[in-house]
Amino acid sequence: MPVPEWVPIRDDLRGYEPYGAPQIPDVINLNVNENPYAPSAEVAADIAEAVRIAAGGLNRYPDREATALRTALAGYLGHGLTADRVWAANGSNEVMLQVLQAFGGPGRTALSFAPTYSMYPEYARDTHTRWVTGTREEDFTIDLDRALKLIEAEQPDVVLLTSPNNPTGTALPLDAVRAVMEVAPGVVVVDEAYAEFRRAGTPTALEVLDEFPRLLVSRTMSKAFALAGGRLGYVAADAAIIDALRIVRLPYHLSAVTQAVAITALAHSDELLARVDEIRTSRDELAAWLKDEGHEVAESDANFILFGTFADRHAIWQGLVDRGVLIRETGPEGWLRVSVGTPAENAVFRQSLQEVTR
Ligand code: PMP
Repeated sequence: MPVPEWVPIRDDLRGYEPYGAPQIPDVINLNVNENPYAPSAEVAADIAEAVRIAAGGLNRYPDREATALRTALAGYLGHGLTADRVWAANGSNEVMLQVLQAFGGPGRTALSFAPTYSMYPEYARDTHTRWVTGTREEDFTIDLDRALKLIEAEQPDVVLLTSPNNPTGTALPLDAVRAVMEVAPGVVVVDEAYAEFRRAGTPTALEVLDEFPRLLVSRTMSKAFALAGGRLGYVAADAAIIDALRIVRLPYHLSAVTQAVAITALAHSDELLARVDEIRTSRDELAAWLKDEGHEVAESDANFILFGTFADRHAIWQGLVDRGVLIRETGPEGWLRVSVGTPAENAVFRQSLQEVTR
């Protein structure tokens, strides 16, 4: 429901509804690209203990600079990064909003390549940033010549590149990142929310971070780390870029509880990330199966697969919901996106899809 007439909301927000995928109880959730494996009892107990300790100090504000957490994140990322080159916020959603608050705004332009993550235009709208989209090729890659021409014509203050891209799973070669950096006049963010799921040989933009002071690489603990509920996203960049983000952050934006949870999860990164390989294997198996079934399948470096195409994708989506499987109706017309679940969940999805499509 849009907000009623009498609510004096900003004119440019009138008619909008809050962003979000349908939430349906008691279904197999393969719709928001979560990690299907919950933390083990041991990890959950350690997190609970860290929260218990944090609770004893909740009369005080948390560490405003989240230094211990940023140090741990820098250690995880490697590539010689240090705490002053890493920033953290409540999910990479908040990181991205802060990027647009600091580098976008009225009279400024942000540019991305569709189809891509559907929240970007909302950050742009909310920060009064002009939003421009180029388009991807039929196989969802970015044609570099066309992309560079568009960047030269639009002179964007912020370029958002997503690798692997949501909802298509498409990764970006480092040559493309380098070429974009050469022509982009402002900051360039490579959103690597799904980086840990990339296939062998697919690069990360962290490898070229030191070459380009205006390059930002964002990550999240929501996917590979199985910590979507903890709300922790982060970004690596030049220390001066991080300082610019610190100008727009709310004071104490990361609660003591969030910091304690994330630090403890990072201390268990080996265990939390142990399932990533399984998910990658399941992804490749599921992609092969979908192809065998005669579907079109986008090459994926992420923990989800875009497949299609269906004359009436909503009917397929609904048929799956009726069988207790929730996937996502997103991407170009006719396509659907499924997150990779546990082998048992994937089996139910496969069975249900066969029923719905026959
Ligand atoms: N970037 C991309 C490409 C995403 O798909 C998502 C989550 N769906 C996010 C950022 C935000 O993730 P979070 O806020 O949970 O870190």
